[in-house]
Amino acid sequence: MLNKEFMARDLAVLWHPCTQMQDHESLPLIPIRSGQGVWLEDLEGKRYLDAISSWWVNIFGHNNPLISTAIKQQLDRLEHVILAGFSHEPAVELAERLVAMTPDRLSRVFYADNGSAAVEVALKMSFHYWLNRGEPRRQRFVNLSGSYHGETLGALALGDVSLYKDTYGPLLLEPIVAPSPDAWQGQEGEDSYDTAVRCLLEMEKILSANSGEICAVIVEPLIQCAGGMRMYHPHYLSGLRSLCDQYNVHLIADEIAVGFGRTGTMFACEQADISPDFMCLSKGLTGGYLPMSAVLTSEDVYSAFYSDYASLKGFLHSHSYTGNALACAAALATLDIFANQPVLENNVKLAALMMDSVSTLTDHPHVGEIRQTGMVLAIEMVKQRETREAWPWQERRGLEVYQYGLSQGVLLRPLGNIVYFMPPYVINAEEIALMGRVAIEGIERACSQ
Ligand code: PMP
Repeated sequence: MLNKEFMARDLAVLWHPCTQMQDHESLPLIPIRSGQGVWLEDLEGKRYLDAISSWWVNIFGHNNPLISTAIKQQLDRLEHVILAGFSHEPAVELAERLVAMTPDRLSRVFYADNGSAAVEVALKMSFHYWLNRGEPRRQRFVNLSGSYHGETLGALALGDVSLYKDTYGPLLLEPIVAPSPDAWQGQEGEDSYDTAVRCLLEMEKILSANSGEICAVIVEPLIQCAGGMRMYHPHYLSGLRSLCDQYNVHLIADEIAVGFGRTGTMFACEQADISPDFMCLSKGLTGGYLPMSAVLTSEDVYSAFYSDYASLKGFLHSHSYTGNALACAAALATLDIFANQPVLENNVKLAALMMDSVSTLTDHPHVGEIRQTGMVLAIEMVKQRETREAWPWQERRGLEVYQYGLSQGVLLRPLGNIVYFMPPYVINAEEIALMGRVAIEGIERACSQ
């Protein structure tokens, strides 16, 4: 009853993200009163395992004592101060540590307050860089099919998920779309490496045909997350880095979802041993506590903006909450956990358990593929295994898995027909087994009629 009463209050005033609000005529809304580790608890005391890290942000559990304490301590000193003309210790220490831990080329940190804003910053900086360097013809960006970079107009334009994008088409700048190296969409007889090689050839054609007009190529390294947890071979990233060097365009690595250990390495770019010109970070940056993002870039980019004021070469971009001190404190505590605990080593074991937990689905007639990169595992539900024919999206089979999951106390939130696990790294073996069992049962149900 408590949940129901709360839901009525909520629906009288709130408009929820990424939701057709009419769905809530039949779909319950879950009011959460507390969280602990991987668990969320609703007003009636029912618990839900957060198998998706609350939109991929939470990496060390809800109510993590180390992060909570760091924020409380910061709160007694300084909550926030304008970052233009002013500065503070947590902002500088965090920037120092991010520079030290990211690939070599990245030496400058620009803060923003969410992932989409970070993408906007990277796009504007890249464009403005070329302008400052005397190349005003460079006005275009290259993205990958199936990509996702956020919801603000610039970031949305650079994505390629029609569900989110098509409606707003008339408002959006038009990128040049290169084929994704997504291994699931590989051609007959190709393995993931072959797919990467083929897609690099396509990328090269685009870069050579539009020489002098492209600012940057933007990619989600290793996993196209919102596009369906589509995974690709690291060779694509190393090849892309070489092509960007060869054709003299920037490479923007959007590590917003995959950074901070998600793919098995601290940053996904490490698996290809590359350094992008811009790296966008958010989500796990604050352990999932507070909204914050950072764009890291090179000394070369920074120096192109460094001039006298009247030249208008400066980057006059700002967000009110840039470099928020509480968010910086949360991020520093998050980095401390990585520094003091064997997180990545432990994740190797957790990742293996995740795969074990759903191994019985391997030959399931409605499972096209189970794929995994580090702490992301995805199960592609299909109408027919042999042909890989997709279930029509209108049937909303993923929604059935979601509802079944909730009934069993597991928060799974499939992306269309793709059921995935992206849990906090503090999940244990028993919880993984539960997550796996509920996913299997949910998929059985969703695919049974
Ligand atoms: N880039 C990627 C790769 C993402 O996954 C997301 C969020 N899902 C974003 C950008 C946008 O981040 P935010 O939701 O914080 O705006």
